[in-house]
Amino acid sequence: MILSGWVQRVRDKGGMIWIDLRDRYGITQLIFDEGKTEKQIIKTARSLGREFVILASGKVMERYAKNDKIPTGDIEIEVTRLEILNESKTPPFIIEDETDGGEDLRMKYRYLDLRRNPVRKSLELRHKMLQETRKYLDNQQFMEVETPYLIKSTPEGARDFIVPSRVNQGQFYALPQSPQTFKQLLMVSGIDRYFQIVRCFRDEDLRADRQPEFTQIDCEMSFIQIEDILNTFEGLVKHLLKEVIGYELTEIKQMSYDDAMKYYGSDKPDTRFDMRFTELNEVAKGKGFNVFDQAELIVGICASGCANYSRKQIDALTEYIKRPQIGAKGLVYVKCNEDGSYKSSVDKFYSQEDLANWAKNMNATKGDLLLILSGEKDVTRNALSELRLKLGDDLKLKNRTEFKALWVLDFPLLEWNEDTGRYHAMHHPFTSPKHEDLGKLESDPGTVKANAYDMVINGVEVGGGSIRIHSRELQQQMFKILGFSENEAQKQFGFLMDAFEYGAPPHGGIAFGFDRLSALLGGSDSIRDYIAFPKNNSGRDVMIDSPSEISKDQLDELGISLK
Ligand code: ASP
Repeated sequence: MILSGWVQRVRDKGGMIWIDLRDRYGITQLIFDEGKTEKQIIKTARSLGREFVILASGKVMERYAKNDKIPTGDIEIEVTRLEILNESKTPPFIIEDETDGGEDLRMKYRYLDLRRNPVRKSLELRHKMLQETRKYLDNQQFMEVETPYLIKSTPEGARDFIVPSRVNQGQFYALPQSPQTFKQLLMVSGIDRYFQIVRCFRDEDLRADRQPEFTQIDCEMSFIQIEDILNTFEGLVKHLLKEVIGYELTEIKQMSYDDAMKYYGSDKPDTRFDMRFTELNEVAKGKGFNVFDQAELIVGICASGCANYSRKQIDALTEYIKRPQIGAKGLVYVKCNEDGSYKSSVDKFYSQEDLANWAKNMNATKGDLLLILSGEKDVTRNALSELRLKLGDDLKLKNRTEFKALWVLDFPLLEWNEDTGRYHAMHHPFTSPKHEDLGKLESDPGTVKANAYDMVINGVEVGGGSIRIHSRELQQQMFKILGFSENEAQKQFGFLMDAFEYGAPPHGGIAFGFDRLSALLGGSDSIRDYIAFPKNNSGRDVMIDSPSEISKDQLDELGISLK
């Protein structure tokens, strides 16, 4: 047996030397016995350092002390040949499952980090996801088509990454935020099932775990209804869970956007645990408690078995939701005591009977803790959603090995933006309004619902899409509502609207966030672990040191002058 790989560890006990050799498949123990092994080989073995690249061969032996943690733990190699293929400097961090290297150091030497088992395993999972995605979609007659990366800048959505054109000075390409318009044009071309596993680029303000470039499974279908899309992509998600991690996903529930907001305060509810919202306006107003009386919404959750929370614990929850990012004003609690009495932070205003009524509304029983927020509807729902998720963590209700998938449907078409004083498309401007709402498009655009859907798994939005507009008139009307002049709309999206005049089929599609989906199946919160060469939180690649300045000559050639 001949093995090649890297020296992970050398243990020299005088008469015996053991070396852990690591390759892509794992660790194998090499053994050198001063009594048996050739002197020259022993000498070479003693000269090895961590991460030296070696070739070894010898006799496979059953191991005396077996290691059941690794697949090759039952055997060891009694070495009869040993060659050093290359030496190595001592690496800046330990290349083992648990390393002493911090994030920055590991990213600077990412090629060494990738030698570590957990990181390599993440990439293996990603590889499997890629293969299985292609397999499933190919089987369903989807055709993989590549669309260009150097395209045209459009103002809708996030900010574009811009690439200057040397041969057309003063003009710029943009990198695609998604292949949206191209995939729609492919439908006009008659490629009725398209997919692409594609890199997308968005120059957004960086948040933890956002990458400026990321990968999507991008899909589009013609001649379909919403149900066809939901069925096809439920199939994809089930296939991936089964083939990649052996998880049998039986059902994918459906929930309207309005219900998601009403019962979970979020358009991506984590349904691994219940703790649904109960609105209490009817039963909590009119008893002299000003805060509630003036609130647009009074809404609460029931934390099962938490009536024994201490003052300190409740204060900590209150502080959590009062942080500026969440912005709640205060938290009202009701403890449903074991003796049938109630203890609340608003006892002054509410009788035992009132509190019993709340508890009944919230399906609470003895031993439960009611947590109630009030105020402006959207802010309050959001704050309670954050509180719910925190309790989900605290009470260990989020099981990483369980997957609860959900379609969120019937999104609003538009959302009002206070800053710009106009409507923005909630999904994107190509999403079709629901047929029955077309009449309200001009008169009451805010209430129009869209033919849009998101797939949410364990509180993570893993994919989203819509049935598209496929007529010039409706697309034009949409741009008008979004505040585009006819001229602007034609200049930016004329190519698409022109195409709609040449027999565009009804169509719709979806895109999945591939990095996020990989992380989810891998049981991790960090998408970075699933990207071979990711950027850090400031959008930098610290290994190649990018972005970086370019030379004066390069700038001149591009006709760009820096201030
Ligand atoms: N292009 C959309 C996105 O990137 C997805 C879709 O509508 O298919 O979010």
